[in-house]
Amino acid sequence: MKKIIVAIDGYSSCGKSTMAKALAKEVGYAYIDTGAMYRAVALFAKRLGFLTEQKIDEERLKKALTDIEISFRLNKDGVSETFLGEEKVEKMIRNMEMASGASRVSELKFVRQVLVAQQQAMGIEKGIVMDGRDIGTVVFPQAELKIFVTATPEIRAKRRYEELVAKGESVVFEEVLQGTIERDYRDTHRVESPLVQAADALILDNSEMSLAEQQEWLKNRFFEVCNE
Ligand code: C5P
Repeated sequence: MKKIIVAIDGYSSCGKSTMAKALAKEVGYAYIDTGAMYRAVALFAKRLGFLTEQKIDEERLKKALTDIEISFRLNKDGVSETFLGEEKVEKMIRNMEMASGASRVSELKFVRQVLVAQQQAMGIEKGIVMDGRDIGTVVFPQAELKIFVTATPEIRAKRRYEELVAKGESVVFEEVLQGTIERDYRDTHRVESPLVQAADALILDNSEMSLAEQQEWLKNRFFEVCNE
């Protein structure tokens, strides 16, 4: 069976990573969550004082980025976790502050250049499932299977809200919905690599689909391409 690159793009909180992770596990591919990389940059920038609510110190962030080391390591349960240098930051990057910080730093060209180069290196041997916003358009325009996932903002905000509540965060649904709408706007309107559907991507609107149905759908597309 041929080894391929699976590029999964789409709006925030539409279940891309859940699908991508499940597929990677099932077929023995590596899984890369590129959103986690932008979130790690936001955390890195915030800690250095280069990212505040008011502004980003672009010049200093650009210099500091030459030293950034983001990696993914599997924990004992085989789940991929994000590391900044030797520090596990998986939990720290999964809140609304880092989501919004990631969305802001991801608008910067130099940030995208650094992360895209790292992502391309990770996929050099194929056998990878990568999710994000620009995977099928910029990172791997040659990917054999491209999926563009979408669902209504209300449904995505509801899923995100339930996820955050389950993690013990105190959040208000309207704020999560507002955050979702703002991120959609920033992701689709930024100058650098805006979120757009690749011309050759398959669209998956999962508003009305269960997780199991989505995973089945993705698995079927994967084997269709691999067995071509
Ligand atoms: O997917 P996730 O919500 O973790 O991504 C966080 C933010 O990082 C997104 O809102 C988006 O602005 C940015 N991002 C990006 N390009 C990617 C992945 C994420 O610009 N490939």
